[in-house]
Amino acid sequence: MTMTNDSISCDVLVVGGGPAGATIAALLAERGKNVVVVEKEHHPRFHIGESLLPMNLMLFDKLGLREEVERIGMIKYGAEFISPYHNKSITFDFANASDKNFPFAYQVRRSELDEILFNYAKGKGANTIEGCRIEAVEFPREGGVTAKGRTDDGEEKAWNAKFLVDASGRDTLLATQLGIKQRNRRHNSAAMFGHFSGAHRLEGKAEGNITIFWFDKGWFWFIPLVDGSTSVGAVCRPEYFKSRQGDLDAFFRDTIAMCPAIADRLKDATLLSPVTGAGNYSYRAERMTGDRFIMLGDAFAFIDPIFSAGVFFAMNSAFIGADTVETCLDRPRKAAAALRHFDAQTRRGIDTFSWYIYRATRPALRNMFMSPRNILGIEEAMLSLLAGDVFRRSTVRARLYIFKLIYYISSILAPRQSFEAWRRQRRNLQAG
Ligand SMILES: Cc1cc2nc3c(=O)[nH]c(=O)nc-3n(C[C@H](O)[C@H](O)[C@H](O)COP(=O)(O)OP(=O)(O)OC[C@H]3O[C@@H](n4cnc5c(N)ncnc54)[C@H](O)[C@@H]3O)c2cc1C
Repeated sequence: MTMTNDSISCDVLVVGGGPAGATIAALLAERGKNVVVVEKEHHPRFHIGESLLPMNLMLFDKLGLREEVERIGMIKYGAEFISPYHNKSITFDFANASDKNFPFAYQVRRSELDEILFNYAKGKGANTIEGCRIEAVEFPREGGVTAKGRTDDGEEKAWNAKFLVDASGRDTLLATQLGIKQRNRRHNSAAMFGHFSGAHRLEGKAEGNITIFWFDKGWFWFIPLVDGSTSVGAVCRPEYFKSRQGDLDAFFRDTIAMCPAIADRLKDATLLSPVTGAGNYSYRAERMTGDRFIMLGDAFAFIDPIFSAGVFFAMNSAFIGADTVETCLDRPRKAAAALRHFDAQTRRGIDTFSWYIYRATRPALRNMFMSPRNILGIEEAMLSLLAGDVFRRSTVRARLYIFKLIYYISSILAPRQSFEAWRRQRRNLQAG
């Protein structure tokens, strides 16, 4: 890539102005760095991923944005799980988690949340650019990073930065360019979703709760938004999506009909816009750091949205990433250690959730979710997990080991059921 004299110089170039990119841009600009954040779309833009976790509130508090998010958010006090295999529903109230400081979270329209964060970065002094796609980046031998982008009207732009933050989400700019993006070998799923008016919600304080409905093909989410509409999505095995014959709207309706509990909630509902599909999306890059770059949020990995952790992970990686980038720029001798720390912290959250995601449709795990018992505080630990409290050193982690032990014992005690579930998952991975 040849750079022209028109190249714009900066300390940090951030690719992508979603939650990860906007957060790190704000934090670094606040610390006096010359930051440019380049977003290919224009805010407000649609994005899926509307259910936040209580631990997100801790990050909004640190940014001083709690009130702004509250204005656009529907309060979510807990998560309801409905299982046709147990013929019952169960609600986990965040108020019962180990940390009582964050007893709820929010459901939000991402167009609104992401715009708040993007404007916040601008307010902190980051140079925010919209409608420009970064097409390629390079790391010249002599140092720094060069990047080339193209605006909506075809104009070429070029940047010269000391450090690159890839926050390009599922576009995975760097992982794709470096050829290090890997399909997740342990999990695959795909989704379709739409927004409805007139859905029957839970009553009273529970109105804003997320509901997860298990059914034979996977699971549904039901996310009530503050404007009265409800986001509904089906996450299924890719092989199920391959069986589709008609259009996506009809396929979605047929799929809803397979799950009587959600069909009942939607019996008087109207679909507000065409159904959208998201293809098989479980992936991870081989690494998330390198000399002069880090990857944040979905630019590094995404597994499955069942625990609504994506936005929290993206923003959390931005907080750790801001310290990391600052160290790399200001104390290069400590850069290697800072990058290792960033890697370990980011993986901690992803790996903790992965264990549950890989087993979320297995009978032994479903049984434990549907009949929780607070032996040695493990129900409280499960709640902390659902709230996203997996990064801090707390007794939660120790209790989650006990949860896993009980899971393995229950699986051994029901060998046929466990073997069948394992075989089904394996078949699905091979088919996907
Ligand atoms: C079906 C589904 C349901 C989900 N549900 C939830 C949920 O309920 N709760 C939750 O927390 N998470 C959910 N997620 C995950 C969540 O959406 C993501 O984890 C989150 O958006 C990640 O934030 P990010 O900033 O890393 O990436 P993004 O939010 O994707 O932001 C990346 C930004 O980069 C821009 N960009 C990309 N490439 C370029 C480029 N080359 N140049 C310039 N700009 C670029 C994009 O336009 C985008 O604005 C869900 C995901 C899926 C697929």
